[in-house]
Amino acid sequence: MGRLVLYSGCSGVGKGTILKELMRRDENIKLSVSNTTRAPRPDEVDGVDYNFVSKEEFEKVIAEDGYLEYAKYCDNYYGTPIKQVNDMLTQGYNVVLEIEVQGGLQVMENFPNILSIFILPPSLEALAERLRGRGTEDEDTIKKRLKQAEHEMKYKDRYKHVVVNDKLEDAINEIHNIIINGK
Ligand code: 5GP
Repeated sequence: MGRLVLYSGCSGVGKGTILKELMRRDENIKLSVSNTTRAPRPDEVDGVDYNFVSKEEFEKVIAEDGYLEYAKYCDNYYGTPIKQVNDMLTQGYNVVLEIEVQGGLQVMENFPNILSIFILPPSLEALAERLRGRGTEDEDTIKKRLKQAEHEMKYKDRYKHVVVNDKLEDAINEIHNIIINGK
């Protein structure tokens, strides 16, 4: 069996960039592809970054108990389909759940010993700069996400590991070591 890894951090902190690089370097690491009702960003691919679904489709899976966890975040649903995670774990992959804090807390309740990692930005100012620089969200959404980020950071100590994404290469190496060590 592979290892389940809980991986959280505020929007814009670089979680996705770090994880993509980890998966490129280590083929034993897989992202659990979530379902979301959010609209795809220009560079996102359905089935790779997310499964983009309607609200009705999302709620159908809730009714069928098909999620390991799910949450509403900034007006959209996000959830982890159980079957896919189980299949990848059985195949021996280390499966990363890249999810926000509400979902993270649900997972910790169900798996108290889970390997958990929280990624922090060097500062809130740096995060704001990154979110604006990304240019994928309007100002209203950015403000919502920054507020949410401040809220989420309060939960960082619930995670076993806290990694500051100051220098990307260092953060990637640190997280890779945590996943390999499995503690
Ligand atoms: P974004 O819209 O920026 O892709 O994601 C917004 C937030 O939702 C991020 O913190 C991301 O990690 C989180 N997220 C992505 N997939 C899931 C999921 O399946 N469940 C939960 N609870 N959060 C998710």
